[in-house]
Amino acid sequence: MINLYEFRKYAHQMVDWMADYCAEVEKYPVKSTVGPREIYDQLPADAPSDGESIDEIMEDFQKIILPGITHWQSPNFFAFFPANSSYPSILAEMLTAALGLQCMIWETSPAAAELEEKALNWAKRMIGLPEHFEGVIQDSASSATLCAILTAREKFSDFRINETGFEGFQNLRVYCSTETHSSIEKAVKIAGFGRRNLVKIEVDEKLRLRPDRLKEAIANDISNGKKPVCVIATIGTTGTAAIDPLDEISKICSQYGIWLHVDAAYAGTALVLPEYRWMIEGIDRVDSFVFNPHKWMFTNFDCSAYFVKDKGALIRTFEILPEYLKTRSQGQVNNYRDWGIPLGRRFRALKLWFVIRNFGVEGIREKIRYHIQLAKDFARSISDHDHFELTAPLSLNVVCFRFRPEGLDDAEIDLLNEKLLHRLNLTGKLYLTHTKVRGMYTIRFVTGQTNVTEKHVYQAWELIQEKAFEIMTR
Ligand SMILES: *Cc1c(COP(=O)(O)O)cnc(C)c1O
Repeated sequence: MINLYEFRKYAHQMVDWMADYCAEVEKYPVKSTVGPREIYDQLPADAPSDGESIDEIMEDFQKIILPGITHWQSPNFFAFFPANSSYPSILAEMLTAALGLQCMIWETSPAAAELEEKALNWAKRMIGLPEHFEGVIQDSASSATLCAILTAREKFSDFRINETGFEGFQNLRVYCSTETHSSIEKAVKIAGFGRRNLVKIEVDEKLRLRPDRLKEAIANDISNGKKPVCVIATIGTTGTAAIDPLDEISKICSQYGIWLHVDAAYAGTALVLPEYRWMIEGIDRVDSFVFNPHKWMFTNFDCSAYFVKDKGALIRTFEILPEYLKTRSQGQVNNYRDWGIPLGRRFRALKLWFVIRNFGVEGIREKIRYHIQLAKDFARSISDHDHFELTAPLSLNVVCFRFRPEGLDDAEIDLLNEKLLHRLNLTGKLYLTHTKVRGMYTIRFVTGQTNVTEKHVYQAWELIQEKAFEIMTR
């Protein structure tokens, strides 16, 4: 292994490599073009018995690993939802790696626990959540949602399921819309409810959960002896960024005493803009809320902010206190091991703190507004074009569209768009992904990457038209 002297030397080199990478990220194909097993087969079957130099490892990193990298930090990345990074976040991650903490309890690094509490209080105020919420950083929205469903389950059963299992608690029901993220179904399976007890509620013409149908489903379940435990509302669905009507949903949940969890994994960041706070009307009636700074808030993956109204219920659901974890500070400080599933925890608050301080709240707002404006402009280009159309209403910065030349039926249009998407991604000049909107094959265009500008959007639009034309003529 290298010594401290070499570590310093290589660290400087790597920082140069990192800065060059950031400067030149656009020269790489955005979506990696390697085939299955291409990377795996280039690597030796066994680990080296003698240590190799950092130079050799770096050489292989460049030669073997980089071609298999999809460049999420390219401003031409319009796929999925972004997993944004930024300079302050990268710097903080460097410090985090050097400190190498494991932040399971307050005593294992008081600053980590207290910074986490403070940074999440900042985030809470930045996005307009009520003061009574308390936050914890989770690895992912999937984990946060699982925590929500488990806490809802325990609260419903008066913490008896944790004690004695499901005896007497069959048919616990969870509700979400047909557009809800797959992590909800996963959580329902893990929490022991059984997938069939996840009720998917119909959506309206804007792909939002229909409160009237939710109410019907709940009433119907109750009259059939089933037990409504939790509703998940989504602020910014994965397909089209649809915003479920929280105010109405929250009233139904209050009326029936059902836990309401809000999945705002992506779109939660837009709440930094006062003009988008309407999305969380009814938030006072919400029990838990998650959004991912690691998506749209410029903080390296992973960093998911989970907020709860009743931290007591959360802690009681997860608390374990073996002798070796008992400390003198118990009760005065947050021991985040009890606020989620894993015992061991990374020091994730540091990068969030760096990002918020370095951008400033106004700096973050400016970027988010700009990203939303870019999507508006792109959507206008789509709807102004005779052979393209929007397949869902524009929501925030997610544009759903398809190529629709005349004289083709729906199946042909689907095929054509699939082909178009594939061709576009093969160019390496951008990366787009797809979804289905009411059965229609739909290309998604998300203008949320940290460094995206109108130039990138313009070039993408030119390329989309060029490739669409190519497909029609060849
Ligand atoms: C991305 C996303 C998730 C999953 O987030 P992870 O942090 O990857 O688990 C869940 N819900 C919505 C709406 C999302 O956009």
